[in-house]
Amino acid sequence: MSQNPPNLRPDIAQPRFDADRRQGQPSIGMVSLGCPKALVDSERILTRLRAEGYGVSPDYQGADAVIVNTCGFLDSAKAESLQAIGEALNENGRVIVTGCLGAEPEYITGAHPKVLAVTGPQQYEQVLDAVHAAVPPSPDPFIDLMPATGVTLTPRHYSYLKISEGCNHKCKFCIIPDMRGRLASRPAHAVLREAEKLVEAGVQELLVISQDTSAYGVDRKHAASPWKDREVRAHITDLARELGGLGAWVRLHYVYPYPHVRDLIPLMAEGLVLPYLDIPFQHADPAVLKRMARPAAAARTLDEIAAWRRACPEITLRSTFIVGYPGETEDEFQVLLDWLDEAQLDRVGCFQYENVAGARSNDLPNHVAPEVKQDRWDRFMAKAQAISEAKLAAKVGSRQEVIVDEVDGEAATCRTMADAPEIDGNLFIDEGFEGLKPGQRLMVEVDEASEYDLWGRIV
Ligand code: SF4
Repeated sequence: MSQNPPNLRPDIAQPRFDADRRQGQPSIGMVSLGCPKALVDSERILTRLRAEGYGVSPDYQGADAVIVNTCGFLDSAKAESLQAIGEALNENGRVIVTGCLGAEPEYITGAHPKVLAVTGPQQYEQVLDAVHAAVPPSPDPFIDLMPATGVTLTPRHYSYLKISEGCNHKCKFCIIPDMRGRLASRPAHAVLREAEKLVEAGVQELLVISQDTSAYGVDRKHAASPWKDREVRAHITDLARELGGLGAWVRLHYVYPYPHVRDLIPLMAEGLVLPYLDIPFQHADPAVLKRMARPAAAARTLDEIAAWRRACPEITLRSTFIVGYPGETEDEFQVLLDWLDEAQLDRVGCFQYENVAGARSNDLPNHVAPEVKQDRWDRFMAKAQAISEAKLAAKVGSRQEVIVDEVDGEAATCRTMADAPEIDGNLFIDEGFEGLKPGQRLMVEVDEASEYDLWGRIV
């Protein structure tokens, strides 16, 4: 996450949708706000609708109704969701609301009484019921064959893979456990089957997501399920090893710094999983972490980071932080700055603390003044940027495998193994790139670096 979160709206994949819409086919539009997890929900809903014979409209005008998948994580995200609902009502008029903000229906209907229905997160069946009521299906069994891997809103060569839903923690600034419930993991074989289908359909990179990836399978007591000729436990290490065998890049997101994360690092060193950990530390001062009620608040994270780097020197570490948490003193903030100096994280996102309706942190004493939060954010980001710049400069002259995301008239936009789509930087090839195709993997030599991006040439 960064101060300016990436735009994950589905517009990125629009041209693929309505190309072969048949006459009279009912069509639904989708506006997907929020995090990659919400995007996966949107994909699931569209997959089901597509299987039932609906088309997917890339614009408001071509849609018989519009689903708005909302985010309610921060008050600013709620405001954005309300605005998106308002826009869909103005442009189309027939709007079904789902997603995190759907957990607070009166908040939505208070602002927009004309919405057709409001359903909460993961209420797939209710969303489908609402669509059926608004726009009855008109299936054509000869045409509406379910696409092999469902509909993906992300470009075809990478795909999010959701392994669990919900969270058993109670971080005070977070209302996700209230909205999404306790941890519910998918069985290992179900995740692997979906991943295998995606890879067979051409996906080159699997982005493993959940609310708490390291906790995967705890609710199932890590029960094994049959997969091919063996049993695979619902445990992140076992799952990551199996995913790594499929041949695509596998990138792990939202991994909490529990001790068993150590067991994932050898898989990275072996090349089964990308040497990349997205690990939300949120802060470094023990007292602040305790006030946040973070899991693993007492973990000696600097020691852990040093051990990971010893086991896999090329590992890239990404994290997110909150500055200006209630009660954060200048000394506590300084602990965070010093920690970052030592940790030398490759990628860093930072939020200024915001109250979220329903979060327990709202009631904590000594909220930090807005100008102090801004000042701390500026100082934190200046340090993070200097670290990133130095780390990227050190890559000049190195050879890197990259994946191509996009090719236009000026350059091929690629990513190295150290860059997750949407949230990290890019590597640009601006010579001899014309024949490259999205999803292609190739070797480049890095010849230039900025604070966040690289440039390179094909070798
Ligand atoms: S670990 Fe904490 S921040 Fe993450 S979803 Fe659970 S409660 Fe929220």
